[in-house]
Amino acid sequence: MSAVLSFPSLAGALGPAAPDPAPPTAAECAALRNAIERARAISVRPGRAPGIVAAVMAGDEVLAYGENEVHAQCDPTRHAEVVAIARATRALGRTDLRGATLLSTLQPCEMCLAAMRFAGIGRLVFAARQECVHRKYFRFPALRITDFHEASGAAFVHHGGVFEGEVLDLYADGDE
Ligand SMILES: [Zn+2]
Repeated sequence: MSAVLSFPSLAGALGPAAPDPAPPTAAECAALRNAIERARAISVRPGRAPGIVAAVMAGDEVLAYGENEVHAQCDPTRHAEVVAIARATRALGRTDLRGATLLSTLQPCEMCLAAMRFAGIGRLVFAARQECVHRKYFRFPALRITDFHEASGAAFVHHGGVFEGEVLDLYADGDE
């Protein structure tokens, strides 16, 4: 018999596929919409780069929002996700955010995915996906969210493209 199995037949041999991770909750969707509104409000300010806004949630509660502060703080590491994580950990008085969810209006970059993992966050919901925005937002463009997911040992679940149509115009070009 043939030893070559196509993926569909292999999947059939192994039984049903693993269930999809839980889709974004109503509270997560509401918080992401709030983040998108904040990002759009930032983006219309004269001289401002497109707004990127992130949030950290515990259950249905938003622990912190954060916006990109790279230019405001003259610090290339002050991405919205880093700011939100820092605010959440300081508010809680601990660096362990296990059980929390990270939200962002834009797919987190490599640095922010690492920060998410260092904080123990295992759930990520974001709007604009890497393949739909300008390349400037990623410094390791050959690596995709699926690569990070696999490299982490599937230590986090991710939902990208949520309300994506509401933000893509913000991140379409390379203007600062
Ligand atoms: Zn980042």
